[in-house]
Amino acid sequence: MNRYDVLIVGAGHAGAQAAIALRQHKFEGSIALLGDEPELPYERPPLSKEYLAGDKPFERLLIRNHAFWEERAVTLLPGRTATRVDPAAREVTTDDGATIGYGQLIWATGGKPRRLACPGGDLTGVHTVRTRADVDRMIAELPEVRRVAVIGGGYIGLEAAAVLAKLGRQVVVLEAQDRVLARVAGEPLSRFFEEEHRAHGVEIRLGVTVEAIAGDTRVTGVRLADGERIDAEMAIVGIGIDPAVAPLLDAGANGGNGVLVDGQCRTSLPDIFAVGDCALHANRFAEDRCIRLESVQNANDQATIAAKTIVGIEAGYDAVPWFWSNQYDLKLQTVGISTGHDAAILRGDPATRSFSLVYLRGGRVVALDCVNATKDYVQGRKLVLDAAAIDSARLADAAVPLKELV
Ligand SMILES: Cc1cc2nc3c(=O)[nH]c(=O)nc-3n(C[C@H](O)[C@H](O)[C@H](O)COP(=O)(O)OP(=O)(O)OC[C@H]3O[C@@H](n4cnc5c(N)ncnc54)[C@H](O)[C@@H]3O)c2cc1C
Repeated sequence: MNRYDVLIVGAGHAGAQAAIALRQHKFEGSIALLGDEPELPYERPPLSKEYLAGDKPFERLLIRNHAFWEERAVTLLPGRTATRVDPAAREVTTDDGATIGYGQLIWATGGKPRRLACPGGDLTGVHTVRTRADVDRMIAELPEVRRVAVIGGGYIGLEAAAVLAKLGRQVVVLEAQDRVLARVAGEPLSRFFEEEHRAHGVEIRLGVTVEAIAGDTRVTGVRLADGERIDAEMAIVGIGIDPAVAPLLDAGANGGNGVLVDGQCRTSLPDIFAVGDCALHANRFAEDRCIRLESVQNANDQATIAAKTIVGIEAGYDAVPWFWSNQYDLKLQTVGISTGHDAAILRGDPATRSFSLVYLRGGRVVALDCVNATKDYVQGRKLVLDAAAIDSARLADAAVPLKELV
């Protein structure tokens, strides 16, 4: 049986960063990075953007090249799934029946995309967008596809819709809520993106429920709850992820929708950390509620905290959440967490395609969504950090730089 001083399960953003940070902070023990995908660790955001569009080859998505991992003596164990954790024996079992021992375990498994539970949900031509393999399958089918139904109007669905519209496909977005991005953004932002997509020829259907995917072996369309049928040769399902935490919960870790961690990313099990999309943590930018963040920022920051804790450097997770999304020529940058806001102040005119939305809770700035407005994003960060109380009229005046309001 192999044994490593640190075993990292999940070779995505958080897993890779944990290994990088351990070596940066002079950890000299053995490290293994085990993941169920066959590739070297790679960046996921381009999958629904430049990679799907064919604008970036896979090699440019790699977080580090092969030589980097070799030089830092990080043992890569690709193509293997961790199925069981035995915290008493300090062992992880993998799907090939092997057992791997560890001194400290970092769980960085992200999540698996939710699938449609309705009839036809697993037909050929129904896709999720989480891995390189997912997107390669889509790309391979595209030459035969004219019409695409995107199910779910969240960031990933909208990004895919934008790329496919640019590639000349007829795209319809089917969203169950009464606006896109309903879970993550204020109404003005939702309406702006709906209009942008419509202007690019994407049909946006709101308040619709998918009842079935039609087709014998391949998708031929989507049937809605009201009986309407929408023809499509491809369906893309973007309805969120479920954190991949079953082995840890089975082993007795506290959690539910994710594994619960403390400020140092420690789970309730001895010497087991959890980081990234799968880690449920109390976040001060969400009024100390326990949440999971699905962002590169969070994956990197939590991984760094876990690595520092392992090498004995005092550290605590307290990062301001940030995120970005690219659709067409629009760069959305968000900072803070807008959930639970009680006011949203518009800075600038959406018609100019450069504006921001500043979210307040109890009169204090909690988040910003900035569209083609990087200055607001950079300067607004401090307002979020300070939970600044600023007069709405001043916030709304786009002529006044946010840094002057700090
Ligand atoms: C299409 C797409 C676009 C995105 N765009 C953005 C963006 O613009 N900006 C942004 O900030 N974030 C974006 N994100 C989110 C961001 O990519 C994630 O938050 C980030 O990848 C989380 O890192 P992670 O390491 O926690 O999980 P992941 O990167 O998902 O890595 C987890 C890895 O663990 C593997 N794994 C799971 N279970 C097991 C197991 N039992 N055994 C072994 N391996 C396992 C998974 O297959 C995966 O390889 C996007 C995500 C996607 C999918």
